Amino acid sequence: MDVSEPIVRIDNLTKRYGAFDAVAGLDLKVPRGELFALLGPNGAGKTTTIRMLMGILQPTSGCALIDGLDCFKDRVEVKRRVGYLPDEPIFYDYLRGGEILRFVGEMHGLKRDEIDRRATPLLQRLELADATDEYAANYSKGMKKKLALICAMLHDPLVLILDEPTNGLDPYATRTLHELVREKVAEGKTIFFSTHLLDQAEKLCHRVGIVFKGKLAAAGTLSELRARVSRNSTLEEIFFSVTSTEAPAALAPAPLPATFPAPRVEAAPSESAVQVVPLDLAGPPAGEGAVVLVPVAVTKPVEELPCLMNDEPAIKRPPRDDAR
Ligand code: ATP
Repeated sequence: MDVSEPIVRIDNLTKRYGAFDAVAGLDLKVPRGELFALLGPNGAGKTTTIRMLMGILQPTSGCALIDGLDCFKDRVEVKRRVGYLPDEPIFYDYLRGGEILRFVGEMHGLKRDEIDRRATPLLQRLELADATDEYAANYSKGMKKKLALICAMLHDPLVLILDEPTNGLDPYATRTLHELVREKVAEGKTIFFSTHLLDQAEKLCHRVGIVFKGKLAAAGTLSELRARVSRNSTLEEIFFSVTSTEAPAALAPAPLPATFPAPRVEAAPSESAVQVVPLDLAGPPAGEGAVVLVPVAVTKPVEELPCLMNDEPAIKRPPRDDAR
């Protein structure tokens, strides 16, 4: 795999329901090591796009590739590389939180002690350690989201795909999630998430894509988007500008830099390996929202929250290492 190639590549992706295109010829590229946010109004097609990336939905036409693999045809292999956090995770009623973590970890071929080694620090950081003996069905919405996030990180995937990751999380857990994704990007991993929180996107991301009516209305860094709308625009103003029904024609995405730096992945200390994995490695998704877990343990000190998407992203992309 050529690491200079975008790790997520979406070409003319379409999902049609009857006569309605939920996703209507979407084109998008996300380079390795990028923290990318997908924005868009309700019903714009974000979740449908993410479900096609996860192989949960088959595209009507077009294709989505992750790490060069077709997201539907090669969905088992894709899930080895990707950790997925659904907007509304669903867990088996008869499993306790700790059992779910072990189940997910074992689905990814991890040994029990490795699962515990990876999961324990995450459980502590997300303040879920005292709930592992409780049935996940009894968890609050935020607790389910935390458990699903740990599941998604257990196998230390190359890419984390997070659908509305902070929806339902309290401010403490939101802060921890921001720290975790920043740590993953520092390790060279790629983060692709959807959100309605424009300040979150502005604070965290290298680039954003704004989807409107199933198409990409704009994509780029904040500076690039400003150059196309107005020099002093906020992300909120840009969002309204490109998603209003009176909006002018969609703005073409800024071209990716020809030499986007590939991440340099350093051997992380064993106690700081984190992974997320979606379930269903052995076949088609058992159901929407199915999530698989892999062990994680992150004990690295948390850096300042990056101030996103300005000219100089606060989260530095790792330097390129062609020897990788
Ligand atoms: P939100 O921000 O509200 O979560 P979204 O951008 O994630 O929205 P999607 O859930 O992708 O939007 O839905 C895009 C469009 O596709 C919506 O109009 C939705 O009603 C429609 N849609 C999604 N799933 C189906 C389905 N199974 N059958 C028919 N229409 C569908």
